Amino acid sequence: MGDERGERAEGPRRHRDLGGALTAFADRLLVVCPGCGGRAVVVPRPDLPAPRYGSELLFMPRRLACGGCGLVREWNAERKGTALVGAVLGESDDPFFGRPLWLRTPCVGHVLWAYNAAHVEALAAYVGATMRERGPFSPTSSMIARLPEWMKRGRHRAPVLAGLATLAELAEHSSPADRSPAAHPDGGRPRPHDARLFTSEPW
Ligand SMILES: [Zn+2]
Repeated sequence: MGDERGERAEGPRRHRDLGGALTAFADRLLVVCPGCGGRAVVVPRPDLPAPRYGSELLFMPRRLACGGCGLVREWNAERKGTALVGAVLGESDDPFFGRPLWLRTPCVGHVLWAYNAAHVEALAAYVGATMRERGPFSPTSSMIARLPEWMKRGRHRAPVLAGLATLAELAEHSSPADRSPAAHPDGGRPRPHDARLFTSEPW
């Protein structure tokens, strides 16, 4: 209801998809710390030169660091022959260390997730728009074009925006007590059978 009133007052809200890839948001991932269950951050190793291309972000050595408990872990891309095997994005786990993303929340029977606050903002700009335009680019690489259908439905606009507001709020917090109930191992995946009973992860 608030949504409808807002539309009348402000007119249609436009969003034009400029084709930015999910990789663009993979420079900084908020994850559940394997040490304390609080918020840790996964970034390209800070002692290395900045990447020249966005896709390099999937291959560069990474560091997981937790400000709460001081845990630090390193990740290096697997080598197959002369090639490096990069991380694959698009799931609600961090693709480098396999940690649950810190920004996860249940939403209309699914799990809404994001890597960081800028990612949440980009999603909210799209979901909140009542006029959505596609730019002149291949939709295969666009983060927006590849969103699941349930996030794009008009009738889901209000609950998805509410979920994104929850994620924005979670991004501000870091203690284990603030962790989302959805941010636990396998919490972001549909489970046809319960395969997570035997987990060695504390969180
Ligand atoms: Zn920690």
